[in-house]
Amino acid sequence: MKVRRPPPAEVKRAAQILDRLEKAHPEATCALHYRNAFELVAATILSAQCTDERVNMVTPALFKRYPTPAALARAVPAEVEEIIRSTGFFRAKTKSLMGCARALVETHGGDVPRELQALVKLPGIGRKTANVVLGHAYDIAEGVAVDTHVLRVSNRLGIAKGDDPIQVEQQLMALVPQPRWTRTTDLLIFHGRKICDARRPLCGQCPVFDLCRWKHRQAYALGAPPRRKAAARRARARA
Ligand code: SF4
Repeated sequence: MKVRRPPPAEVKRAAQILDRLEKAHPEATCALHYRNAFELVAATILSAQCTDERVNMVTPALFKRYPTPAALARAVPAEVEEIIRSTGFFRAKTKSLMGCARALVETHGGDVPRELQALVKLPGIGRKTANVVLGHAYDIAEGVAVDTHVLRVSNRLGIAKGDDPIQVEQQLMALVPQPRWTRTTDLLIFHGRKICDARRPLCGQCPVFDLCRWKHRQAYALGAPPRRKAAARRARARA
């Protein structure tokens, strides 16, 4: 998809939003615990469909037992499954973890590559994970990691449009200068978790309320959110 160059006024508005979010959430950063790129890769694989808190509860035991890609590549799958069971989808995640560890050993000498194209070829690693790993383990900004929070918040704010993560990433990359890409991810995720909740956004406490373009923000700020369509239908049926 070809992304049009955004008008200067939109670039300025995005910068204002990020400045305000930076001021409001200076502590925003990757919430996963890790000590090196390999641990971040493993933790990010485990974080699919799981909270970061839960992942942080299991990774100390996982990294103690398998401190390197070589150790994890040689693991007994059932033992890995037992350690990571509480993160959900533990069989598929074990396959991804061990497949990724094997690929790191066989193709990259046991190191995590620093190139996006090499990272996305590893089992269990998509573009989002690759961006997180590059940005946080290596301080390399190759893109904006778009998860469910980034998708929702950027659409509500009106700095991106659509539900396709790749297209939203392209729009954000066109709007925000490259040195801010990693922070953009951190700030939008943090803001989405703390303020711009999917079901009950705290618009009345939002530091970017006046810059936001979401049509329901005023209603949520006043504590009178619009009724959901299904609830409204049920209410009509009862009447
Ligand atoms: S005003 Fe509401 S919808 Fe807009 S970013 Fe803030 S919390 Fe989210």
